[in-house]
Amino acid sequence: MPQKDHFDVIVIGVGSMGSAACAFLAQRGHRVLGLEQFTIPHDQGSHSGQSRIIRKAYFEHPDYVPLLQRAYHNWAQLKQEAGTDIYHRTGIVYFGRPDHDTMKGIKKSSILYNIPVETLPPGESKRRFPLFQIPSDFETLYEPDAGFVTPERAVLLYTELALRNGAVIRTSEKVNTWKQEADQVTVHTDKGVYTAGKLIITAGSWASKVIPTLGTGLKVTRQLLAWVNPEVWDVFSLGNFPCWFIEDPERGMYYGFPLLPAGKFGGPIGLKLAHHKPGETVDPDHVDRSAPRDAEENVRYILSKYLPAANGAVLSIKSCLYTYTSDEHFIIDHLPGSSKRVTIACGFSGHGFKFVSVVGEILTDLAIKGKTDLPVEFLQLNRFH
Ligand SMILES: Cc1cc2nc3c(=O)[nH]c(=O)nc-3n(C[C@H](O)[C@H](O)[C@H](O)COP(=O)(O)OP(=O)(O)OC[C@H]3O[C@@H](n4cnc5c(N)ncnc54)[C@H](O)[C@@H]3O)c2cc1C
Repeated sequence: MPQKDHFDVIVIGVGSMGSAACAFLAQRGHRVLGLEQFTIPHDQGSHSGQSRIIRKAYFEHPDYVPLLQRAYHNWAQLKQEAGTDIYHRTGIVYFGRPDHDTMKGIKKSSILYNIPVETLPPGESKRRFPLFQIPSDFETLYEPDAGFVTPERAVLLYTELALRNGAVIRTSEKVNTWKQEADQVTVHTDKGVYTAGKLIITAGSWASKVIPTLGTGLKVTRQLLAWVNPEVWDVFSLGNFPCWFIEDPERGMYYGFPLLPAGKFGGPIGLKLAHHKPGETVDPDHVDRSAPRDAEENVRYILSKYLPAANGAVLSIKSCLYTYTSDEHFIIDHLPGSSKRVTIACGFSGHGFKFVSVVGEILTDLAIKGKTDLPVEFLQLNRFH
């Protein structure tokens, strides 16, 4: 009989990456314990807010594309296993000056990996996307195989999959400390003590607190999401309107989604948009969740300039946390000095959710086999030294 409090793998943090890791581990027959300090899902970390953009022509770096190809495959697999949609293909339209790094990055990844991306001449851009008011010096790119995934639902489905395959998941249980010993790790929570052969740490914005020896700084910022009431609903609804990115020369990148029916997607109600720029630096344990005074001004700025038909009343403003590394690339690695007993994934820098389905697989391979066939060398910790 296996000992009650001993596991093959313990996962600290059952949020985005941790829920997927628990599911992959349990599906492969490993005895896994997932420890989550809040409920599953919750709105105190990085996976709240209804929708997350997913795209392949990756402007952040082309090295992410093979991981994205696998992520798309794994999202489709989850759909089959769970019998419900996670990925919604809406296409993404990108607007910006052609020499901006974002626009150049999209074109570079698309060429290197043969990802369909259309360049639309101004007349064609206006014809296909008449709701946008775009300056004449902007370029329009369109990626048809892009869209959004639903974060809370994905976390729920991966957790359900883990439980169905025998995982033990403990919620409202916070890990206080953990220790590596010669042949196991011991984890102390506010409710108990557990041991395991391997440890995976997916603590999101709390990663620096849970991994004191990380050796590189992580910055946690509070990001705002807004939902507005457009003038007319039909033209902005799912099926009629794409996801979008605008590289504004003054304030940087903004992005948004189609209107999602509340009956299928839950709340908040309205047309969602956000500013992809580091917000105020915060301690994840003490975040002021009230909407700051300038939040509405920022919404008015972008909508009046580029999408006037959407410039209606603000219905909701919510906050969510980004966890930045210094180069804005993820960290996926074994913890140095842990003899591959401890695997970590953190610093997703505001662009990690679309990768959840592949990160769960990678973490499972790194923890169990000590290696992965997927190309993650560029995400290792040694790049900081
Ligand atoms: C506003 C916003 C918009 C975004 N938009 C996009 C997008 O469009 N596309 C995209 O791909 N990505 C996007 N992202 C980024 C993406 O959501 C994150 O990169 C991803 O959710 C990070 O996952 P995580 O597992 O690291 O963190 P989380 O999902 O927060 O999970 C970490 C978990 O660890 C738990 N935990 C921490 N410490 C402990 C402890 N001591 N004991 C027990 N449990 C603990 C936490 O409670 C939490 O549940 C966005 C993020 C935000 C905030």
